[in-house]
Amino acid sequence: MERVFNFSAGPATLPVEVLEQASKDMLNYNGCGMSVMEMSHRSSEYGAIHAAAKESLRSLLNLDEDHEVLFLQGGASLQFTMIPMNLLSDGQSASYVISGSWAKKAYKEAAMLYPVKAIASSEEDNFNYFPNLEQSAKDSVYTYVCVNNTIYGTRLSPERLASINGTVVADMSSNILSEVYDVNRCGLVFAGAQKNLGPSGVTVVIVKKDLLKKEKGELPTMLDYKIHLEKDSMFNTPPCYSIYICGLVMDWVKKMGGVEAMEARNREKAALLYETIDNSALFKNNIPAADRSLTNVVFLTGDKDLDGDFVAGAKAKGLYNVKGHRSVGGMRASLYNAMDISGVKALVNYMKEFEVQRG
Ligand code: PMP
Repeated sequence: MERVFNFSAGPATLPVEVLEQASKDMLNYNGCGMSVMEMSHRSSEYGAIHAAAKESLRSLLNLDEDHEVLFLQGGASLQFTMIPMNLLSDGQSASYVISGSWAKKAYKEAAMLYPVKAIASSEEDNFNYFPNLEQSAKDSVYTYVCVNNTIYGTRLSPERLASINGTVVADMSSNILSEVYDVNRCGLVFAGAQKNLGPSGVTVVIVKKDLLKKEKGELPTMLDYKIHLEKDSMFNTPPCYSIYICGLVMDWVKKMGGVEAMEARNREKAALLYETIDNSALFKNNIPAADRSLTNVVFLTGDKDLDGDFVAGAKAKGLYNVKGHRSVGGMRASLYNAMDISGVKALVNYMKEFEVQRG
């Protein structure tokens, strides 16, 4: 079977070059006589892979010396707990922008530990725009935003992110390395890898070191950023194979020209799909242009059966996983870095064909 165009929101498509390299390395990595999966995490071979992956992320994001990179487990979801645990103390609060269900989950987890505040929300309109941030609470230790809302197809632009007062904590699970954001401007950025960075199993956390004010022993060891920082993300066995694949993906991003080049590619892909939707009498996307995600594009016909037929017909053409999330319905095409423009061209051709036949 040929490879399909996989529009999954995550785990998601990976660059073919990365998969080819991984398959070459599978039985015998770099003359070691074993795969990366079989190596001790304390070996010099794995140590080099770990250090290179970290360095690649630092250079792709132009990180300054104040920020440190961690490779953790527990998914992006564990960060919903670790963030307030590590950054807040008794008597303190933080502001949360409820821009989608992942941000809402983060808020709920934080609210179990500290009296955090929801300062803005677009929930009443089923999260179909990115809420206004102007009323950020003054007494907050940080303002939490989910920069790209994977389910609803909205995102906060780099300019708006940069304009938030004070310390920003940002979930970039579904758009890290897809568009140029000033990560140094943020106190903490995190991303589950399984969308734009690599396979599931590892979560990248980028944290400004001086925000970690708690003493050692105040927090459970595995939930303490300081411990992971001191041990270079090897306090316990890291998800070695996932980190190795992330390293290959980041090498590929560098070879393609870095994040600026990725952004240019992603803008072209997203523009093609949004243009097709906006020029169509059948498909709709009601998100304000400035809030539209480059990586997750949502579109609907408004008729469930028709949407179902579209999704089934897409699969028959090798366009997989275009079904929308159940809380929005319709369709969603995830256009992460590894999705080539040829996939988007195939999708828009099918949309036009479908509209002629069924519209
Ligand atoms: N944040 C965002 C923006 C997401 O899209 C997701 C997963 N789709 C998560 C957090 C949760 O990630 P995980 O499954 O790694 O916990």
